[in-house]
Amino acid sequence: MNIRSFIIRAWNRYGIRRQLIINSGDTPPSNLKSRNLYLAQEDEENWAVAFNCPCGCGDRIELQLLPELSPNWQLINERKKYPTLHPSIWRKNGCKSHFWIKRGHVHWCKP
Ligand SMILES: [Zn+2]
Repeated sequence: MNIRSFIIRAWNRYGIRRQLIINSGDTPPSNLKSRNLYLAQEDEENWAVAFNCPCGCGDRIELQLLPELSPNWQLINERKKYPTLHPSIWRKNGCKSHFWIKRGHVHWCKP
């Protein structure tokens, strides 16, 4: 791991927490302006959440939240400011990052 990715990982783990930004509609915004998580919510239903990959690779990650879709993720304590997602996010393409998001912090699965 190079020094840049070490710093990015440490910042995501221990730095300022990512917040949840709620957008009405069935898809998250196409342009993610910050490191926060963007929730698409319509008719009180959570559709999807999108955020930029915390490793710094620049890829966009979009996760389905509807329980009838597969795979899907669960947003825990959505009314709170700092989001938790379950299960972990494991990218099969690109950077192959594997991490959890817990209360706005990124917990890396690999060192
Ligand atoms: Zn990445």
